Amino acid sequence: ETYDLVEFTRDIVQDFKMKAQKSRIDLQFVSPLTELPYTFDAEKLDKVLFNLLSNAFKYTPDGGLIHVSLLLANNEVEIKVVDNGEGMTKKDREQVFEIFYRAQQNTSLGSGLGLALSREFVQLHDGEIYVVSEKGKGTTFTVVLPHRSVVPSTGKSELPHFLRHSPEEFGTP
Ligand code: ATP
Ligand code: MG
Repeated sequence: ETYDLVEFTRDIVQDFKMKAQKSRIDLQFVSPLTELPYTFDAEKLDKVLFNLLSNAFKYTPDGGLIHVSLLLANNEVEIKVVDNGEGMTKKDREQVFEIFYRAQQNTSLGSGLGLALSREFVQLHDGEIYVVSEKGKGTTFTVVLPHRSVVPSTGKSELPHFLRHSPEEFGTP
């Protein structure tokens, strides 16, 4: 299905507005693009972005910041979730995408499934997800998706077969 990926992402960020107000977190969404029609599995990408934002909230103390950005670079869509929370160690960085891995085994903040699933879902879109993080400073998760140009709804396949050919095929006069 094709949706506006900018609006889709903004809506998910918006869902965390109340949570941000309660913990005085500076939550922002920025996108140089006003819209980006994109074909994707909304249910899966929703889980990915929801998990990245939930994580940012779980591991960022009150008064911190969580910034989400969406931009096009090198014909790729780049969605970043940046926080200035507790961050993670090198060991954590290497293992966070493994199933059931959790850095703080003593806390009961989650099951350690979120990022493993997120990576699966992003890869199903021919994309990649990676983390940059430093203990005590913060964490940035980046989701990179290929920018496929969207076929207009009045695309070739909907035209009668005799109109499906490009003029070049018949030789230009
Ligand atoms: P679940 O998402 O299944 O409820 P979870 O949040 O613990 O549980 P993941 O989303 O897979 O699991 O995250 C794995 C681990 O990565 C977390 O337990 C945490 O240690 C670390 N982590 C994830 N996001 C951040 C972040 N933004 N800042 C610091 N640590 C993080
Ligand atoms: Mg999680």
